[in-house]
Amino acid sequence: AIEVRGLHKSFGDKKVLTGIDFHVDHGQVVCVIGPSGSGKSTLLRCVNRLEEPTSGQVLIEGIDITDPETELDRVRSRIGMVFQGFNLFSHLDVMENLVLAQRKVLGRSKEDARKVAQANLDRVGLGERGQAMPSQLSGGQQQRVAIARALSMEPDMMLFDEPTSALDPELVGDVLGVMRELAAEGMTMMVVTHEMGFAREVGDKLVFMADGVIVEEGDPATVLADPQHKRTKDFLSRVL
Ligand code: ATP
Ligand code: MG
Repeated sequence: AIEVRGLHKSFGDKKVLTGIDFHVDHGQVVCVIGPSGSGKSTLLRCVNRLEEPTSGQVLIEGIDITDPETELDRVRSRIGMVFQGFNLFSHLDVMENLVLAQRKVLGRSKEDARKVAQANLDRVGLGERGQAMPSQLSGGQQQRVAIARALSMEPDMMLFDEPTSALDPELVGDVLGVMRELAAEGMTMMVVTHEMGFAREVGDKLVFMADGVIVEEGDPATVLADPQHKRTKDFLSRVL
């Protein structure tokens, strides 16, 4: 589970997050929407401390990762992250991309790492593409490789930051399909997305952010059909 309490984040004088409280329970899928610049990525990056919060707490499975005593690498290795860009190593083939962090971070043998990698490539429908170079794959396939790579670390939870925004429309469905399956298997997920259909059908909770605060949150279908705040209404009328 993820718990965020009173989170503030500033870059210099610029206040980007100004008091965020929310939680993602075990096995829940929480989708985050909001205008560009509202702080969605910053929030996600604070959750695994790619950004250091200015104040407030982030608890991962009850462990406060803002505490300097916390072994950050260990906690972080429990959290998979997938970004908008695919961030694959372009000079490594698909299999090597999946094996690398397992070897380095988890100390797995080459053989074990390859087995786990193969199982996760199968899972995302790319079991035959282990020898391909990233440049030989479509954007949707590359993003599925990025998901398989994150899953190969056997994380307890997954963070997604607009994983389909850089994709051609016809490739979006395959990636969302993989995420949908993950959700059905009970993965704890936090998903920043513009895909309202996914949020409605897969999300357990929808969070609307604007200007560094959570304006509104609740059951996705309810928030989308009957937003309570003017800002949420304005945003949804522009994107739906
Ligand atoms: P988008 O939908 O465009 O991805 P977002 O909601 O993810 O937007 P963030 O990327 O979290 O927004 O950015 C929130 C604000 O913080 C923006 O005004 C951005 O310019 C600022 N910001 C983000 N990272 C930094 C940084 N490293 N240094 C300074 N300002 C930053
Ligand atoms: Mg962003």
